[in-house]
Amino acid sequence: MILVDVILPLAVGSTYTYRWPAGSPMNPQLGMRVLVPFGKKKIHTGILYRWHTEQEEADRTFEYKEIYCLLDSYPILTPTQLKLWEWIADYYMCTLGEVMKAALPTALKPESETRVFLEPDFIAAGPLPRTQQQLLDMLTDGKPHSIEEITRSLDVRSVLPHINTLLEMGAISVEEHVSDRYVPKTEHRISLAPDFPDAKLGPRQQELLRFFLGLGEESISRTELIRQSGCSLAIVKGLVEKGIFVDTTVGVDRLQEEGKTAEAHPLSPAQQTAYDEISASFLTHNTTLLHGVTSSGKTEVYIRLIEEQLRAGKQVLYLVPEIALTTQLTDRLRRVFGEKLGVYHSKFSDQERVEIYKNILFHKKYEVVIGVRSSLFLPFDRLGLIIIDEEHDASYKQQDPAPRYHARSAGIILAGLHGAKTLLGTATPALETYYNACSGKFGLVRLTERYRGLSLPEIHLIDLQRQYHRKEMYGHFSDPLHDRIREELQRDKQVIIFQNRRGYSNYMECKQCAYVPKCVNCDVSLTEHKFSHTLVCHYCGYTIPVPGVCPACHQADTMADRGFGTERIEDEVKQFFPEAKAGRMDLDTTRTKNGHKRLIRQFAEKQINVLIGTQMVTKGLHFDDVSLVAVLRADALLNQPDFRAYERAYQMLEQVAGRAGRKPDENGRIGQVVIQTTDPQNPIFGFVRSHDYEGFYRAQLRERELFRYPPFYRIIGITLRHH
Ligand code: ADP
Ligand code: ZN
Repeated sequence: MILVDVILPLAVGSTYTYRWPAGSPMNPQLGMRVLVPFGKKKIHTGILYRWHTEQEEADRTFEYKEIYCLLDSYPILTPTQLKLWEWIADYYMCTLGEVMKAALPTALKPESETRVFLEPDFIAAGPLPRTQQQLLDMLTDGKPHSIEEITRSLDVRSVLPHINTLLEMGAISVEEHVSDRYVPKTEHRISLAPDFPDAKLGPRQQELLRFFLGLGEESISRTELIRQSGCSLAIVKGLVEKGIFVDTTVGVDRLQEEGKTAEAHPLSPAQQTAYDEISASFLTHNTTLLHGVTSSGKTEVYIRLIEEQLRAGKQVLYLVPEIALTTQLTDRLRRVFGEKLGVYHSKFSDQERVEIYKNILFHKKYEVVIGVRSSLFLPFDRLGLIIIDEEHDASYKQQDPAPRYHARSAGIILAGLHGAKTLLGTATPALETYYNACSGKFGLVRLTERYRGLSLPEIHLIDLQRQYHRKEMYGHFSDPLHDRIREELQRDKQVIIFQNRRGYSNYMECKQCAYVPKCVNCDVSLTEHKFSHTLVCHYCGYTIPVPGVCPACHQADTMADRGFGTERIEDEVKQFFPEAKAGRMDLDTTRTKNGHKRLIRQFAEKQINVLIGTQMVTKGLHFDDVSLVAVLRADALLNQPDFRAYERAYQMLEQVAGRAGRKPDENGRIGQVVIQTTDPQNPIFGFVRSHDYEGFYRAQLRERELFRYPPFYRIIGITLRHH
């Protein structure tokens, strides 16, 4: 009797115990997937997690159910991954099953359907029991059948024991079916077998082998090899059969796997110093913060650190908050690392995620992976460094559902499990991070100089209340801002306008009775989308047409816009600056896989010269000709019901300001930032104006301590749910 604990993707219970089938010829290893019965009818895929000790088995008081079958011939999880899962489940108080749900691409997960196939070569040694024969008959149509289908057509209580028996006989095979029918475009790649045997080769095979070795490449596409060497497919296949070559099939279209096209830039003296300091810091600290102002060239420093890891045969994980927003960065890394770079894209289909997962696990394919927070769960086996870029970004935190993990903390733990280092990089560190750096828990390296010695942009504040009072406004643009934009457009420069709200207006209100249309599900005000003439809930997507008559007081034409979003600003730009070529970057215009890319290209090629956007425009864009960045109304950032509101506001303003003035223009002029607000006295603007992170940090820290917030205290949210 062998007992084993299995992780099931459930929010209750940590693991479940099953009996390993007696006399099973299989060779199960922890981390493999198994098919198990659960409850009366359910079948789940689980992960083999732990063998029971002999003592536990002896103490057993309960008759456990038996595992149906093993789904893998190789573990899909490494022991290190399991350790990370354990830490997350423990620290963020959830079940291993919930971690499993977040960690594995759906196609590897329990929800996927198991399908059964007939093994064409099977010949039964003798007559089979009736049910098993019926089952085989059913499969002779050559098509795969789901377990549900089989259960329905065979009149037995449970088909699984039969499937299990047939599996062991080799009569059938099972496979996880993925409903997403993504068929990857694939390519054969030829590489040298790791330990190739002594084999007698024909003259043409020898010739091909010599040709391949002469290339000095680790691998080459099979088509390319045939084309370049002029040999036939049969000769390549011959070498594969003799175990000299390995032929692997890989997907080619999704990652645009262009080869390396550029070298890393030489580091500037300031960057070199930062690089040296980081290396030194890693001798005493496993985690180090690189606090580098915007446009200081942190990426170039990262590239050096990555190269160093690759030389040592290690892998690097490069975490970014939201990959769709880092086109420029990904392109830069692709040029330097070519095919060694894997991208774990948030807009990839599930199948594509599975492919990346398997590429890392089985083919040891990528040495550098750039990805969003969930790429922490990829099956790395020799991480040397984790870079967490823009470490302050809130999207590193998974809020809902469980596991409510923070990728910064989990990343540091993962690095620890690999004996690797973690580098946190940002211009505006999270308060908690800076606190850890100042208290010596993390190393701290500063890069205070912008690349090419540029100065930081100048920041001007405009008092909106005064402007409104004097009626010196064009819509939401104050007179001075209006004039500045006009001037920049005349100079053929580019402008970025930041408004952290999409749609047309924040909400609508009845001028008569002050009724505000709200979402029936979420009780938040609906946002007007002028394009579709609808009101939309930005939490759940609930949509209604804009009411012509107030639903509350039934008067006609009383509904009016309140507040404003990016779509409204786009209209105003067209109205007040008819000469401008306006573009809008928000969730609505970047929903498609290439929407964001296209906008960036248009802006880079100056088909757009006024870019209006939500926080997306604050993230990692570099354009030399942006001479003005405008924040239309900073108040909204400050008036959030969150103790981190000021911190976020500071980060957002500093980051958006960083998009300006990357290069002095012909007149030696640097970028300008205009911030409009009704509350110009707020101290936060003073810090932003002088780019004084330290001052901001100290002021915030005092408040955090006074009001008992992190990093001095921990907060636990408790939610009660009931009908
Ligand atoms: P950060 O991430 O610190 O805001 P980046 O790494 O994106 O800054 O660098 C800002 C710009 O300066 C980029 O366009 C980058 O290509 C350029 N740059 C930075 N360092 C170098 C260097 N050593 N050589 C050439 N170009 C550099
Ligand atoms: Zn009304």
